[in-house]
Amino acid sequence: MQVRIDMDGDGPILVWLRKDLRLTDNPALDAALATGRAVIPLYILDETPGVRPMGAASLWWLDKSLSALGADIDQRGGRLILRRGAAAEVLDDLIAETGAAGVVWNRLYDKASIDRDAAIKADLRGRGLACESFNASLLNEPWTVKNGSGEGYKVFTPYWRAAREHIGQVHVTPAPVALPSPAASPSSDRLSDWGLHPTRPDWSGGFSMWWPGEAGAADRLSTFLSSKIQDYADKRDIPGVEVTSLLSPHLHFGEIGPRQIWVATRAEAAAGNIPVAQADKFLSEVGWREFNHSILFHRPDIITANFRPEFDAFPWNRDDAAVAAWTGGRTGYPIVDAGMRELWATGFMHNRVRMIVASFLIKHLLIDWRQGEAWFWDTLLDADLANNVGNWQWTAGSGADAAPYFRIFNPITQGEKFDPRGVYVRRWVPELSNLPDKVIHSPWTAATHLTPAAKRTYSRPVVDHAQARQRALAAYQSLKGD
Ligand code: FAD
Repeated sequence: MQVRIDMDGDGPILVWLRKDLRLTDNPALDAALATGRAVIPLYILDETPGVRPMGAASLWWLDKSLSALGADIDQRGGRLILRRGAAAEVLDDLIAETGAAGVVWNRLYDKASIDRDAAIKADLRGRGLACESFNASLLNEPWTVKNGSGEGYKVFTPYWRAAREHIGQVHVTPAPVALPSPAASPSSDRLSDWGLHPTRPDWSGGFSMWWPGEAGAADRLSTFLSSKIQDYADKRDIPGVEVTSLLSPHLHFGEIGPRQIWVATRAEAAAGNIPVAQADKFLSEVGWREFNHSILFHRPDIITANFRPEFDAFPWNRDDAAVAAWTGGRTGYPIVDAGMRELWATGFMHNRVRMIVASFLIKHLLIDWRQGEAWFWDTLLDADLANNVGNWQWTAGSGADAAPYFRIFNPITQGEKFDPRGVYVRRWVPELSNLPDKVIHSPWTAATHLTPAAKRTYSRPVVDHAQARQRALAAYQSLKGD
């Protein structure tokens, strides 16, 4: 439904872009254009206190994504304005400079953003300016899907059943052909002056596999739907083959929205081009993203607090050497090390391996999930508050609909099950590439085959699995008081 923006005068409208770095299906932009006024697309590198700053990998992505968006806007006769500072002050400055009659944006769902946006909206409206917000990034906003008691769901399966029902007819609006600009454009920072590219160290060399921006996102979706989705449900847990969509950073930055994914996937299934079961499985993963946003909205404290308060008493370990072995991909467990090295090299890690490395940090090393979440936050290109916190708490057992505490992934058998030929391990841990398949996930049992480089890490893992498992079970039991 198109919201009409009422305002006086003939000033332009500021379109404050945040996690919606696209022109297609962007309801805030569409609403601004529908007024017939000039529009000023704006990105603020926000420094509002309390809003969690992006990690280093995310800043890399932002840099490229803004560059792509700026070019797309230029092509349509507009100009993307870049400013840095606390959002409320930046908006005030721009309103004064341009005589803007209103501000529009698409909504975010973490508490710090909601509080900031609510204060700005109240202030602008109080001063007689127009201000409207829209939904660009979710199929269902968190307050619209509720259980029988009128609360947000805490378990995924009933959530997704209800959410699917609620979605209804989905429409996607095309990108505008023209973006009318004001006669005089306000000044903009230079993107290169923001220094978003990592420097100390610059580890982004391997990020070149990514194509940030709206065109790259559309390309990922069409490649996925035209080929990879055929094997999605069967092979999505196999890290050695690439059958997942790789859309997560694009979705996080809003270079593509879930409505576009929903419409395109269902259209392919309805046309008989892809099996309905594969389409449904894929859309249910997009549903996990929706679920995590819903959880975060209803329990904003879980960014740092355990969803289940009984976990506040968990006997976490402090062990900097163990954490360094984990972040550096030197734990001595090949599947864990391969994942951590993939993350460092590409800014991404396969979902199954994320579960294994997170479980290893929490359960084998007894390191607080918040430390793992922080490392992922800094190094993942798709680092997303709702998804990262939600999945770390899921793994710890402290979250909503969480993995049971006694499920302690065995890094050897997980490797053997999901990477039986060692394709993934050989790619990321080349010093093990000569090992026979049957020992690739337990190289210490093949000590005679190990090269000197491999021996340093793989003769003796940082913890013995059986002992670590017992220690973790004891720690979890201590929470229950038995
Ligand atoms: P596909 O399998 O193609 O799925 C399509 C989309 O569905 C994804 O792009 C993503 O938006 C969503 N999705 C898939 N799986 C999940 C999931 N388990 N939870 C929530 N959404 C999901 N995902 C992030 O986007 N950001 C994070 O910061 C993040 N941190 C994670 C931390 C841990 C410890 C774990 C176990 C998982 C994390 N995930 C995170 C979820 C998941 O690993 C990635 O979304 C997925 O690997 C992205 O690959 P894809 O786009 O090819 O996924």
